[in-house]
Order: sequence, then structure tokens, then C-alpha cells
Amino acid sequence: MEKQKTDTRRPAYGMASNCAFMIRRAWQGSKGVLSVAAGIVLCGVTASLLELFVVPAILTALENGAGPWELVSMIACFTLGMVAVRALWGYLDTNALFGRVLVRSRLCLDLHMTFCRTSFPHIEDPDYIKWMGKASKCLDSNSDAGEAIWNTMVELLTNVISFVIYLLLLSQVGPWVALLCAALSTASYFAGEPIRAWRYRRRDEEAALLHKADYAVFRSRDMKLAKDIRIFGIGPWLTELYGKYVRLMQDFFAKAFRHDMWADLLDTALALLRNGAAYGLLIAMALRGELNAAQFVLYFTAVSGFSQWVTGIFKQLAQLHRQSMELSTLREFQEIPEMFRFSDGEPLPVKEDHLYELELRDVSFRYPGAQNDTLSHVDLIIHPGEKLAVVGKNGAGKTTLIKLLCGLYDPTQGQVLLDGKDIRQYDRRDYYEHFSAVFQQFSVLAGTIAENVAQVPAEKVDLPRMWDCLERAGVADKIRRLPQKEATHLGRNVYLDGVELSGGQMQRLMLARALYKDAPVVVLDEPTAALDPIAESDLYQKYSDLTGDRTSVYISHRLASTRFCDRVLLIEDGGIAEEGTHEELLKAGGRYAYLFDIQSKYYSQSADDLLPRPQDAGAGKEGVEDE
Ligand code: ADP
Repeated sequence: MEKQKTDTRRPAYGMASNCAFMIRRAWQGSKGVLSVAAGIVLCGVTASLLELFVVPAILTALENGAGPWELVSMIACFTLGMVAVRALWGYLDTNALFGRVLVRSRLCLDLHMTFCRTSFPHIEDPDYIKWMGKASKCLDSNSDAGEAIWNTMVELLTNVISFVIYLLLLSQVGPWVALLCAALSTASYFAGEPIRAWRYRRRDEEAALLHKADYAVFRSRDMKLAKDIRIFGIGPWLTELYGKYVRLMQDFFAKAFRHDMWADLLDTALALLRNGAAYGLLIAMALRGELNAAQFVLYFTAVSGFSQWVTGIFKQLAQLHRQSMELSTLREFQEIPEMFRFSDGEPLPVKEDHLYELELRDVSFRYPGAQNDTLSHVDLIIHPGEKLAVVGKNGAGKTTLIKLLCGLYDPTQGQVLLDGKDIRQYDRRDYYEHFSAVFQQFSVLAGTIAENVAQVPAEKVDLPRMWDCLERAGVADKIRRLPQKEATHLGRNVYLDGVELSGGQMQRLMLARALYKDAPVVVLDEPTAALDPIAESDLYQKYSDLTGDRTSVYISHRLASTRFCDRVLLIEDGGIAEEGTHEELLKAGGRYAYLFDIQSKYYSQSADDLLPRPQDAGAGKEGVEDE
């Protein structure tokens, strides 16, 4: 098994800072968490004091010749007090959960927003993703640092207050008892802690094992894999993988259990030594007549309690240290400097006609860690309203080029300009507002069709505009036939009544979404990849209507699909190899003409499969994939 590296990074925020951070977060949104925590501390200290004083108080009353009625009322008072404190404690403990979950949920939300809004190159950076994984780890469940830290802080405070009270009490017997207990409890803690910390030091190894086992389980439930699992018989392979990681996890937990057991044994041995010595001292004092019965019982109980507080303080501090490190990871993740300017950037100039000129000036781009530039010294001006096609073989750099245009990457060298100004100076989110796109991967959420097209909650959707876009994208008929029309949920991951659309229908829906946004620049990256030939040719014919007077960039590896564009760029060897209209490029007889020739031969050979047969005549524009 691969060896996991131990995290040796020094956290940027210490324990005090992280506790203050959590308190601030609670103060901002869920003040109840703080008052409930204070209440729990008060209950904890009161309960321990009541337990400590109950027997000595009764003994003192007995020694002072108290009557039965006085004794009964005293015991009743203690019992009632104890019941009331315990009941309040339990009530507060249960209620503490709601506020704490709320604080953790808000932290989760912040983390997701950070991820959704960060500069795009971050999300392709493996270090950033790894950091994100570690940061979110502290918010995964009730027992992770982002919530469990409240328990630690409450217990630490309870231990510290009780420690001070017991210290004052025991110092009345003499400094030796308190000193002995404190010294041996400290020794016990420091002897056991390195053994107990074994599992914590290997938390990355544990997380990796869990992740791998989970991976096998989740993949077996993945709907996208369901067909392949059956056809290729992947099931036993996944089961074997799961079994392998479960066995490794069992070994890991057995080792962790052995370490905990040794630590507990050491703890018990030192506790015996500590309590034995302290009790011996108290017995000697009692025998010498220096303590009466009530005092003996009081100090006897206080000795074990005192050791418990000392050990508790160390344990909680160690726990707080670990939780604080995790919270520091979370806070540091959220403070990773952005590559792009956002709210500190300039707003984009607003133009009534929405016509902007885009330019790549001497642009080179190399992916992080790559040996060569994907694009090298590219110069390109896209005129306002121009319909540009970008063609080239797979891997030529077409998608990279549009990602640079859309501002998802910054060039490694050179500039991307909007109306002559470097886009780096603008608020990048403002810049994105000017783009509408259909990318190759479909990005639908488990919401209604209307919400997915408009990207706003259902009640805010402009329905006439949405239907117009569905119509133009050629998917309106299909949506109208659904039982709940535009209110139908997409996907069955969340909604049982959700529908699964075909690849082609989904691609049209993505087109409708791009149209709904009505941005000045439309980018279409292989928008016909999932369409059948009839639907594809339908889209080419309607392309001008679809994009209107907007600037558009159309990417395709199908050269024939560029005829309807004003200009075609052929991308090869990291640059623009040829450019012109489709006819000009054919006439020039260069690479474009050569590639077009090869493609048209291939398509004409398979034309029988591609062209509509007589019985298909009149088939709807949804074509084959709809039926
Ligand atoms: P095209 O759209 O023309 O098929 P791309 O722009 O997607 O080509 O890719 C161009 C080259 O860049 C390919 O060699 C591809 O492997 C590489 N590439 C694309 N995306 C990444 C990435 N995120 N990280 C590293 N290399 C990438």
C-alpha cells in the first residue's frame, strides 16, 4: 500500500485565535450557542460541587447532632438540587446541537461558496483540491472539529473552573496533596498521550482507506456505470476492491485498538499510584487526628476529582490543539489568494448595443506542469457581432482558446483584451456576465427544467422568455409532452418523479439555457456532439437566428459545420494555421481543404446511414434520439 505522508505543516492560526473565530461565528448568526455553552459549564461545575459536598455535609450534620427531620430535608435538598441541575444539563446538552449544527452549516456554505467562486485554474490544481478535501473534513459530521470544538471548549472550561475550586480546597490540607496529584496526573497524561495520538498521526492514512472503500461502494451505485457494470461484469471487481480495503481498514483499526489499550493500562497503573499515595497521606492525617470524618471524606473525594480535572484539562487541550489545526486548515483554505480580480476589479463598461471587440494579443498558454505550450503566440481579433468558427483536430487547443477568451484562464504570456483593455483589470465575475456558453459536459442540477434553463428559482423564471428559448433550441415539443411540462424535475438522483433526458435533448436544453442568458458573446463548444445528423443540420440552418446579432464562437471538429460562420480558424500546432471563410479556405487548397476532403469522403461513404430515409420524411426536428 502506498505510504501516506504525515502533515507537518505549521498551522497559521493558534488555538486562541480559532476559539475566538468560532465564538465570533456563533455571535454573528447563532448567539444561543454561547449562552447554552455557558449554561452547560455552570451545570457541570455545580453538579461536581454538589457531589463533592453531599456526604461531608451530612456527616458534619450528624456530628453536630442533627435530628432526623433536619437530615431528611438536607438529603432531599441535595437530591432535588442534583436532579434539577442534571435535568437542566441534559436539556441544554440536547438543545446545544441545533445551534452548533447551524454554525457548522454556515461554515459549510462559506466553504462551498469559496469553491464555487474561486479562480477557475484553482479547481484544476491538485494541491488546491487536496486542500479543499482537508478543509471540508472538519465540517463533515457532528463529531468533526467544526462542531465538536464546542464540546471541547465547554469541557475545558468546566475542567479549569473545577480545577481551581478543588485546588483551593485541597491546599487547605497542605500543598503536598495537591502537588502530588497534579504531578502524577500530568505524568500519566504525558506518558499515555503519545500512544493515544497514534491514530491521529495516521489520520491521512485512515481517510485514504475510507475514501478508497467508499469509492468502490459509490461506483457500484453510479447510474452512469450501471450499463458497463453489467456488460463488462465489473461488479465482482468492485466487490473485490471493497473487500481489500475493508481488510486493510480492519488491520488499521486493530492496531489503533491495541494502542488505546496500552494507553489505558498505563493510565490505570499511574492512577493507582497517584490515588494510593494521596489516600495514604490522608489516612495518616486522619489517624493523627488532623482530619475529622467529614473532612476525610471531603478530601478523599476531592483527590480523585482533582486528578480527573488535571487529566481532563490536558486531554481537552490536546483535543483542542487537533481541532484547532483542522480549523486553521479551513480558514487558511478560504484565504488562499485569488489569481483573478473579483470585487476589487473594475466593473465592465456598459454598452447599450452589447457589441464588444475581443482580442487575443500574442497569447501563449501552457497548462501547469506541461512540457510545451498548448497555444503559442496567438493573435486574434473577434469583431463585434462576428460569427467565428474554430476547427481543428482533437487536442489541437480549441477548448483552451475559448477558455482563455471566456476568462477561465489567464494567458501564460500575452493579453486577452475587451475593447482594447486587458481583461485582468476587470471584476472577473462581471466579465463572465458577458458570456453565454454550451460546454461539452452537461451541467444540470436536480431542479425543474425551468430552473435549469433560467438558473433562478422557479418563481423568478420569465416563462414566455423560457418557452421562446426552448422553442429556438428545438426542445419545446418534448418538454410540452412531459406530464408537468417545464415544472418537471430533471434527473432521479433527488426527485423520484424526475425525468432522464437523452443526450441530444440535454444538449438542446443547454442551448436553451445559453439563449436565456442573452449575453453579448455566445460560445458553443461542440454543441452538436450528442445530436443526430438531422438535428445537427437543423441547428446549422438556424444558427443565425439562434445567435442573432451577438458575437459567437462555434467550436467543432466537423469542418462542414462551419459554412454558416463569417470566418473559420483552423487551429494546429498551437496556433492559427489558416483563417478565412469556408469557401476561401477550400479555394486556398491548404490544410483545411485537405482535412475537409478527408472528412467529406468519410461522411459521403456513410451517407446512407446519415441521410433521412423516405419513411423518415416529416420526422420532427427532435430526430432519432427523441423516440
Ligand atoms: P481540443 O478542444 O482542441 O480538443 P483542448 O483545448 O481540450 O483541445 O486541449 C488541448 C491540449 O491541452 C490537449 O493536449 C490536452 O491534453 C491538454 N489539456 C486540456 N485541458 C488540460 C488540463 N486541464 N490540464 C492539462 N492539460 C490539458
